[in-house]
Amino acid sequence: MQVLLTHNTDWLGKYRGSGPVVLKPKTTQEVSSILKYCNDNSIAVVPQGGNTGLVGGGVPVRDEIVLSTSLMQTIESFDPVSGILTCQAGCILESLDGYLADRGFCMPLDLGAKGSCQIGGNIATNAGGIRFVRYGSLHGTVLGLEVVLPDGTVVDTISPCRKDNTGYDIKQLFIGSEGTLGVVTRASLLTSSRASAVNVALLGCESYESVVELLAQARGMLGEVVSAVEFLDDSCMDVIQTNLPGGTNPLSANYPFYFLVETSGSNNDHDTEKLNKYLESVIESGVCVDGTVAMDTTQQKALWAIREEISGALLGDGYVYKYDISLPVSKMYDIVEDMRKRCEGLTVRVCGYGHIGDGNLHLNITSKEYNPELLAKIEPYVYEYTAGENGSVSAEHGLGYMKSKCIHYSKSPAAVTLMHQIKSLFDPKGILNPYKLLPPNSANK
Ligand SMILES: Cc1cc2nc3c(=O)[nH]c(=O)nc-3n(C[C@H](O)[C@H](O)[C@H](O)COP(=O)(O)OP(=O)(O)OC[C@H]3O[C@@H](n4cnc5c(N)ncnc54)[C@H](O)[C@@H]3O)c2cc1C
Repeated sequence: MQVLLTHNTDWLGKYRGSGPVVLKPKTTQEVSSILKYCNDNSIAVVPQGGNTGLVGGGVPVRDEIVLSTSLMQTIESFDPVSGILTCQAGCILESLDGYLADRGFCMPLDLGAKGSCQIGGNIATNAGGIRFVRYGSLHGTVLGLEVVLPDGTVVDTISPCRKDNTGYDIKQLFIGSEGTLGVVTRASLLTSSRASAVNVALLGCESYESVVELLAQARGMLGEVVSAVEFLDDSCMDVIQTNLPGGTNPLSANYPFYFLVETSGSNNDHDTEKLNKYLESVIESGVCVDGTVAMDTTQQKALWAIREEISGALLGDGYVYKYDISLPVSKMYDIVEDMRKRCEGLTVRVCGYGHIGDGNLHLNITSKEYNPELLAKIEPYVYEYTAGENGSVSAEHGLGYMKSKCIHYSKSPAAVTLMHQIKSLFDPKGILNPYKLLPPNSANK
C-alpha cells in the first residue's frame, strides 16, 4: 500500500490520486505492450518519472494507472568526440552527470531535484534549471527521442548525428508535452565539456535594482564564462536559517537581496581575473555591499545549497502556494511586493527567488495550513498580472493539473485549438495523462 501511496502523491503532498496499479516496465517493448492494452481497453495512464514535478502532472487525478520509468536506467552509449549521450528515460539526472563527470563532460541541465528527477521527466517538462543561461533549453540539446504513442506505436528519432533537417522535427512536440502525447522511453542528448575552472560567489545588495545591475554587469564583464545567475530575497535566506537545521547565511549580515553568480571555463587564471575585476567594479560602485567567493568545491556546494534548498525549506512553514512565472527582468520583483500587501495577515511569508538570468521568478507564498481565502487572493490575480505583462504563467514547471485551465493566459485561442487537435491526433481516446496541460475541450477559449 505504501508503494501505491508514494506513486499517487506528488512531491509537495498537494495532489493525491487513487491509481490502483503501478507498472514498472524495463524495456520499450514492455511500455508499448502496456499502452496498447490500455488503449484497447480505454484505461487511463499517467507516465511518471522521479515524481518531483511541482504542478501535479505526474500523479493520477482519479484512478489512472501509473506507468513508472524508474526501472529504465540503462546508459546505452556515449561518444566522447561528439559529446552525444544515449540513455533510457528513467536515468536519474544526477547519475547521468556523474557518469559524464568521469569522462570530462557534463549534462546541459542542472536543477535542485537532480538526485531524484529522471531525464524522461526532464524532457517531458522541458525543465529549465540553473544552467539554462549557459546551455539553453532542452529543445536545443535533445537530439533525438524514442517515444511510445498511446496505441503502442514506437516512434524512434534517435540519431548519432547532431544535425538533421529531414522533415518535421517531431521530437520537439514531445519536449514539454508533460506526458500527454507519448511516453519517452529513450533519448539522445548533446552534452558539454566539463569546466575545469569553476568559481561561485554570493553577493549581498540593498535593492532589487542592484540585483538587475549586478546581472547587467555580469553579462558585460563576465560574458562567455557565466554559467549561472540566480537571486533570492531576504525572506528566502530567512527560511533557510529558520527551517533548515544548520542553515546559515555565509555573509556577515542579512541583506534585502542576494545574487549568486557562477563562472565555468577552462582557464582558472583567466576566469578568476575576470571575476575579480567584476567584483571590484560592483563593490566600488556600491551595487554590491557584501560578498563571499567560495575557495573550494565544498564551499561552492554550500553556496549552491542555499539556493537549491529554498523549495524544501519552505515546506517547513506549512502549506506552499508555488508560482513559476516569466516576467521582464527589470519589473520581475514588483509582483512579490504587490502580493505581500495583497495577502497581508494571511501568510507566513511571501518570497521571491529564481533564475534571474532567464527572467524566471519563483513566487512562493506560505501559510500555516491550506487557506481558501488566501488562495482566492492569489488566483487568478497572479495569472492576470502575468498575462498583463505578456509573461508566461509557467516559465518551467509546466501546466500539469494545477494550471491546466490557465493556458489561455499565455497562449492565444488559435494556439490552444491547435494543441487540442494535436492531442486528438496522437491520443484519440484521451488515455494518456488526462486532466493535464489542456483544459477540457469545452473550456477552450
Ligand atoms: C527541489 C526542486 C527543485 C526544482 N527545480 C526545478 C528547476 O530549476 N527547473 C525546472 O524546470 N523544474 C524544477 N523542478 C521541477 C521538477 O523537478 C522538474 O519538472 C523535473 O523535470 C521533473 O522530472 P521527474 O522525472 O521528477 O518527472 P515527474 O514529476 O515524474 O513528471 C513530470 C511530468 O512529466 C511526465 N513524464 C515523466 N516521465 C515521462 C516520460 N518518460 N514520458 C512522458 N512523460 C513523462 C509526467 O506525466 C508529468 O506530467 C524542481 C522540483 C523540485 C522538487
